[in-house]
Amino acid sequence: MQIIQELTLLKKIIKDVKKDGLSIGFVPTMGFLHEGHLSLMRTAKAENDFMVMSIFVNPLQFGVGEDYEDYPRDLERDEKLARSVGCDLMFLPSAKEMYPAGYATFVKVEKLTERLCGASRPGHFIGVTTVVAKLFNLVSPDRAYFGQKDAQQAFVLRKMVQDLNMDLNLIILPTTRESDGLAMSSRNKYLTFEQRKNSVVIIESLKMAEELADQGVRNVEEIKKAIYEKISKAKDARIDYLEIVDTEKLLPLTEIKGQCLIAAAVKFGKTRLIDNIILEV
Ligand code: AMP
Repeated sequence: MQIIQELTLLKKIIKDVKKDGLSIGFVPTMGFLHEGHLSLMRTAKAENDFMVMSIFVNPLQFGVGEDYEDYPRDLERDEKLARSVGCDLMFLPSAKEMYPAGYATFVKVEKLTERLCGASRPGHFIGVTTVVAKLFNLVSPDRAYFGQKDAQQAFVLRKMVQDLNMDLNLIILPTTRESDGLAMSSRNKYLTFEQRKNSVVIIESLKMAEELADQGVRNVEEIKKAIYEKISKAKDARIDYLEIVDTEKLLPLTEIKGQCLIAAAVKFGKTRLIDNIILEV
């Protein structure tokens, strides 16, 4: 596995890989790897000749007062894990090289970014789409892999790829979960023992919503109320948002119909966790 920091060196290697006619699978991450990241990397490895992963804690997607400085980092461990899934190239750009003095270009996807995480984290998605567009330009992947865990992010990036005619296939893979159902996340590390125990309420309430829909409940307000009640009972939990939206435009529904996304962000103390499920009725 090659470990590369410099952008020019990366471009040279990618050029050689392309010249050899190899397909490139790409998994961008912010590091502190867990099984969720590794599942994307395993698929990228299986479906492509050359697998690239990146670790970049992107300052542009963090708001004021968010956890940019504190975001968990452990490069030594990440390196071992990346090797264990057969990663061919680990790309670790610096913020200085990604955003040199005078940097002035940003990518903005409208509409899809207005609700959910876009509403509670202003500017977040401009940071995400800008950095991912830059990474796509640098890595030139044939396929790029993202997790449904960050469903809105994946949908926004899919729109960017479509609107900007980017020549790659964006693949969304299922959420990997802990044995009790909590969605794996680098931020789970922040949780105290008690918060970790209580955090399972997020997926439990989403599953309860799914059961209600299975039983024929179609009224969105009724389902949201049930979720609110369940989450509010968990100690220390504070709902940041809870939305039931369609999967095309991410607009709120009044009735459950077709394919819909139930997405929640819940804070335990300072730690903000997100999760979602997709329902089809
Ligand atoms: P992050 O390092 O959190 O920015 O995540 C990098 C990529 O891994 C994104 O495409 C995430 O959606 C994906 N990812 C994070 N957690 C999970 C998970 N539990 N299951 C599947 N994919 C995940």
